[in-house]
Amino acid sequence: MLPLAGSALKLEALDQLANTLPHTEKMPVMFLGHGSPMNAIEENEFVQGWRTMGKTIPKPTAILCISAHWETRGTFVTAMSQPKTIHDFGGFPQALFDVQYPAKGSPELAMQTKKMITKTEVGLDDQWGLDHGCWSVVKPMFPDADVPVIQMSIDHYQKPDYHYELAKQLAQLRHKGVLIIGSGNMVHNLGMVAWDKLNEPGFGFEWAIEANEKMKKFILDDNHQALINYSAQGKAFELSIPTPEHYIPLLYTLALKENNEKMHLFNDKLLGGSLTMTSLKIG
Ligand code: ZN
Repeated sequence: MLPLAGSALKLEALDQLANTLPHTEKMPVMFLGHGSPMNAIEENEFVQGWRTMGKTIPKPTAILCISAHWETRGTFVTAMSQPKTIHDFGGFPQALFDVQYPAKGSPELAMQTKKMITKTEVGLDDQWGLDHGCWSVVKPMFPDADVPVIQMSIDHYQKPDYHYELAKQLAQLRHKGVLIIGSGNMVHNLGMVAWDKLNEPGFGFEWAIEANEKMKKFILDDNHQALINYSAQGKAFELSIPTPEHYIPLLYTLALKENNEKMHLFNDKLLGGSLTMTSLKIG
């Protein structure tokens, strides 16, 4: 019984800490098109876009990242105090595997997040860490790794409207200095990438251009329903979202938009024909 009593005590202590997170001015919320993991060690216009964002927003007390690369059955948040840097890819140079992003975790924020979500039971995870969907974009924004980072997983078995509704329950965190980042790619069809055109940012297939334009229009018109119902938007969307994991983080970001908040699109470019780096800052 002792281990149980011990962990109950620990939970209680975390619970109290979670209630002490201070109220702050409202933080923006972002969707970042992350593209290739190589962005973590390369200098290019997309990295510059993220870096500029990191410099122009108030410094967060913590970051909560919903990455395309952490899919689970059920919803989890990372709750370790020191998350490891996960190199969840293959076939890249050693320099990329050598990258470490030593930001601390935040067991307190994990607990607070778990408590504020009533739509489902949120599990506290001590196995994951930071995957490249998270660290490859957070590192350019906060190179000193001095902001604690937690991740929330994507329940692979749920439908788009479920994710949208779940994300709404994170709204309070924006008032506690937490920067919420959805990290994926709105248009993401790896099977159709024109590998020989990857060095020509801006090159896009017609269907990818069409989907990017429609997505941006729906975003700017606050037509979230059309974006939730992406599978009813025709051929261009079908080709752009062959699997939903890189698109779903956009729904988490949009769900957190409050009335009359400003929206800013950036890094709005196609890449390799079948990817978009299009990113969004709300607020
Ligand atoms: Zn990815």
